[in-house]
Amino acid sequence: MAEAVVTTQRDHGDRLNRKRSRLKYLLHDRGVAWFRAEVEARAGVTFADRALPPWRTPSALGWTERADGSWALGFHTLSGRIAGPLKAALAELVARHGLDLQLTPDQDLILLGIPREARAAVEAFLAARGLRAESPTKLHDRALACVALPLCAVAITEAERVAPDLLATIQSLLEKHGLADRAPVFRLTGCANGCARPYAAELAVVGQAVDRHAVFAGGDAEGTRLAFSVAEKVPTAELSTVLDRLFGLWKQGRRGDEGFGDFAARTGAAALASRLRPAPSLV
Ligand code: SF4
Repeated sequence: MAEAVVTTQRDHGDRLNRKRSRLKYLLHDRGVAWFRAEVEARAGVTFADRALPPWRTPSALGWTERADGSWALGFHTLSGRIAGPLKAALAELVARHGLDLQLTPDQDLILLGIPREARAAVEAFLAARGLRAESPTKLHDRALACVALPLCAVAITEAERVAPDLLATIQSLLEKHGLADRAPVFRLTGCANGCARPYAAELAVVGQAVDRHAVFAGGDAEGTRLAFSVAEKVPTAELSTVLDRLFGLWKQGRRGDEGFGDFAARTGAAALASRLRPAPSLV
């Protein structure tokens, strides 16, 4: 099925204009009915119309027993960055146990095919090198950043390279407001193309111009609701102030255990944006 989808995009997607060389534009141009028929023909199936079950995005981190009796270990990586001692250790682990690797949509790694009897050895191997499969905080669990500078030709602002520092700032703000246990799904991109899916996040920062960012809020943790802009052209140096205010509003206005995305969606874009002012440099 995946092959049918990918080859449909390969054969009919816009191969000449890079800005439109995405599946969403093909769907927009040709329509869902055409796309569905094309995928059905390629895959040799006929789709049934059925109500979808509730969307879930369970964490892939930690140990999971597989149907074949082997174990999988979901391993957190910050923005997918695997380098230096981490890279060497993972390469050794993979070679030692003949493991397969999978990448997750949250930029993490899954080590596949760990024999039951090797599980303790894998844990000891990681512990001896100070490596942990878990993410350091709930905020880090689902946080994403696109590659941006220096690898992406259209990047306007930093993303992946500054993600560790920005996440540390956000974590300290969440702790200040006593909200770290409800850390929002956060995403960061270097331009409006949104490769790290900021528009489906509870909270996101999107590069708009040199040293200027839009702040988005209001998506849900499962990624099924669109976020909206609450602040525009925020200088990098003022991001923490805006986020501090947002978390303060969330803390004051949340109903019960309400998450940030739900709070923002209920409050609305206009109300949130107006309560973030006055900040002289916010446009
Ligand atoms: S969101 Fe923009 S800067 Fe980031 S990888 Fe995509 S195109 Fe590049």
